[in-house]
Amino acid sequence: MEISRIRALRGPNLWSRHTSIEAVVSCAEDELAVTDRPGFEIRLRKLFPNIGALHAGGPVSLAHVLEAAALALQEEAGCPVSFSRTQPTVEPGVFQVVVEYSEEAVGRLAFELAQQLVAATLDPQAAFDIDAALARLCETDEDVRLGPSTGSIVQAAAARGIPCRRLTDGSLVQFGWGRHQRRIWAAEVDQTSAVSESIAQDKELSKQLLRSVGVPVPMGRPVADEADAWAAALDVGLPVVVKPRDGNQGKGITVNVTTREGMALAYHAAAGIGEVMVERYLPGSDFRLLVVGDQLVAAARREPPTVVGDGEHTVADLVAKVNADPRRGDGHATPLTKIRIDDIAVALLAEQGLTIDCVPARGQRVRMRHNANLSTGGTATDVTDDVHPEVAERAIAAAQMVGLHVCGVDMVCESVLKPLEEQGGGIVEVNAAPGLRMHLSPSYGKPRNVGAAIVDHLFEPGHDGRIPVVAVTGTNGKTTTARLIAHVFAGSGLTVGMTNTDGVYVDGRQIDSGDCSGPKSARSVLMHPEVEAAVFETARGGILREGLGFDHCQVAVVTNVGAGDHLGLHYITTVEDLAVLKRVVVQNVTPKEGWAVLNAADPHVAAMARTCPGKVIYFAADRHHAEMTAHRALGGRTVYVDRTLDGGSVVAAEGSWRRHVRLADIPVTRNGTIGFQVENVMAAVGAAWGAGLAWDAIRSGLATFVNDARTVPGRFNIMDWRGATVIADYGHNPDAMRALVAAVDAMPSKRRTVVISAAGDRRDEDIREQTMILGAAFDDVLLYQDAAQRGRADGEVMGLLRQGLQGASRTTHVEEIRGEFAAIDAALARLQPGDLCLVLVDQVDEALAYLARRIAGG
Ligand code: ATP
Ligand code: ATP
Ligand code: MG
Ligand code: MG
Repeated sequence: MEISRIRALRGPNLWSRHTSIEAVVSCAEDELAVTDRPGFEIRLRKLFPNIGALHAGGPVSLAHVLEAAALALQEEAGCPVSFSRTQPTVEPGVFQVVVEYSEEAVGRLAFELAQQLVAATLDPQAAFDIDAALARLCETDEDVRLGPSTGSIVQAAAARGIPCRRLTDGSLVQFGWGRHQRRIWAAEVDQTSAVSESIAQDKELSKQLLRSVGVPVPMGRPVADEADAWAAALDVGLPVVVKPRDGNQGKGITVNVTTREGMALAYHAAAGIGEVMVERYLPGSDFRLLVVGDQLVAAARREPPTVVGDGEHTVADLVAKVNADPRRGDGHATPLTKIRIDDIAVALLAEQGLTIDCVPARGQRVRMRHNANLSTGGTATDVTDDVHPEVAERAIAAAQMVGLHVCGVDMVCESVLKPLEEQGGGIVEVNAAPGLRMHLSPSYGKPRNVGAAIVDHLFEPGHDGRIPVVAVTGTNGKTTTARLIAHVFAGSGLTVGMTNTDGVYVDGRQIDSGDCSGPKSARSVLMHPEVEAAVFETARGGILREGLGFDHCQVAVVTNVGAGDHLGLHYITTVEDLAVLKRVVVQNVTPKEGWAVLNAADPHVAAMARTCPGKVIYFAADRHHAEMTAHRALGGRTVYVDRTLDGGSVVAAEGSWRRHVRLADIPVTRNGTIGFQVENVMAAVGAAWGAGLAWDAIRSGLATFVNDARTVPGRFNIMDWRGATVIADYGHNPDAMRALVAAVDAMPSKRRTVVISAAGDRRDEDIREQTMILGAAFDDVLLYQDAAQRGRADGEVMGLLRQGLQGASRTTHVEEIRGEFAAIDAALARLQPGDLCLVLVDQVDEALAYLARRIAGG
């Protein structure tokens, strides 16, 4: 068995909507039915007992075993995964194995380990340690997945249908898209100001502010030195607490200081961290109240870590026993954290007259730490339902005074059942980005869905943070259709983000160039803070390599599916395969409310309707096309051409409702004569309609879309050269040639010339077919060699183009020319007034610039 390629599909893809690892796996003859081998399955299950059933629907190959193992390993490691598949390819013995992952790094590791398992199953000498493998997977998962606090917010957002995207390996997460996006960084939200956060960082300043709004806080002040600290302690009254002004996790804090000697130690402990403050010691327990917006959403009582003696075990043993609890981990990833035996613990034991080797008496409570932070081994009990309304009010007032939208309020008091003022309790500090573990999975009491509270604070009820997203795919016309749709959106006042094979555009400005039809570009648009609507040309390459850059789209457009595009690559060998691939955008339209805009006249495209979880708009010039009439009869939406209406119009119809735009008012169609542009216009009308744009906006958008070399370079740009018509176009496959010939046929001309090359990475028959089509429509054909031959021998592509011209019905003159510019020059030199010349550009920008220079020069 050999794995030749592994890739991560990070969005909805050919196989499913789950993020998955996809591998190409080749099996030798004797590896195609391994369960028939004596002892194979027994050994496999001995090495990995929980591998589960081996599904194949036929003979089980090693690829199937790999699939089952990679999935089961992740499941056993606790990852929420369930999808996997092994698909035979056209090459015998070669499979595509697809296995879902929740974390890419874990998915990749699972594949590696699954390979080792397979190798060990085949070789009785080799070993495979399943426990070690699972431990590695768990460890990696804990390392890379979001922590429980951020994770709870992300889960809550996902449950509301809000798109979530992690922006770093850390805890920075984007919710929603474009203009409607919000960000969190752990349990901190984007609208919280840096000023508020800095205030929370300074305990003295926080207390001053709280006191000024009537929130009880312990009296005290910052101190200059040890003597001053003692003076302050006597001022506020003993006992006191000594702590750094800016500290966390209880570091440098000494509580209950009652003596001058105690103060000396306490002062130095705090001074080691930073500026020192002294405040009154408040009796009671530690409470953490979580305020989100203007509401108290959870409260917990926190207990410092303690162990209880049994008269037999040492302190060290007792700690080890407590730490054996599976809820206790090393960091923040588990509900609880292990109790540490460090210098702080040893010092505290000494205060209690103990060492780690002492055996405490049965029932003796031994404190392992003063502070109750979960991260140093503390426990938490939910007390949300106990909080007295006045206590809640003080906590909310504290959060609002400091300006924290998500705020952990630390309170010390006897009980939250009665007002702080009655019991001499107070708030000792407020925390930005508080940990949520103690509320999500308290050691005792009811878990609270605080993640949902934070999401509800970020997004109004009923809002999912999405903007309209239109994905356009197909073999031809994607860029033009995407540009048309974006133009109509922009005309209706929206700030539009668009990606296509020419670049990324936001509000009309190009922010990236080159082929931007993949998921990365789409994601960058969805990240842009101004974008209110997005239009994505979604090419096959990106879908294959990585999947879609979004979870679903409001509108999916499929213009057509033809053989033209790179058949034979990556196991896409037939037009049917291509259709299955392009269908991915249709399969991922928003369920129920979304729309698929489909070319009814293209059977491959029309068939996609069945896989659409939303609604369908069919378009076709011929309104009597069977698919169109059937759809209309069922009350569905259709877009078509009515040549008799108002001198020829594009019509949108739903039931008895009708709207139309005159073809004469859509310049890109040249009065309806350029058939393929009429197709693209119908697709764009469908998309704008599905996205809910007003009909007036659609009409004026179409009227103002200019199809020149500046706005849509290389898409049927028409120019005049000494009375002859020159058209520059970027068509490069047989379907495009047919579309171009149809368009040219509608334009009066004397002699017709075409200038053409072909990219070498197409199939022979597709290259030949292009000139076969052109040979019936042009008198002169000027062939030139393309800049990049893409793996073809010199002259090979020319030969294929020439073959296509054999027996041509119209072509009388064929000429071979080296270089695109030279070919353009030769074509221009032959033109007489009234002639027509189609230049099929290769290096679009360079060739157009050259043409423009030549034409400007007269
Ligand atoms: P955190 O990890 O919560 O940010 P911290 O290092 O910022 O902790 P504080 O919250 O100020 O420090 O104090 C830590 C703990 O020390 C408190 O939870 C409480 O148990 C105790 N404590 C602090 N100040 C007082 C006080 N004035 N009276 C009684 N106990 C106090
Ligand atoms: P690519 O896959 O290269 O990005 P695309 O799908 O984005 O192409 P466009 O750039 O819009 O397509 O158009 C490229 C060429 O395809 C046009 O210049 C024209 O020759 C031809 N074409 C455009 N629209 C259609 C259509 N609806 N049907 C057939 N051919 C078309
Ligand atoms: Mg605190
Ligand atoms: Mg394109």
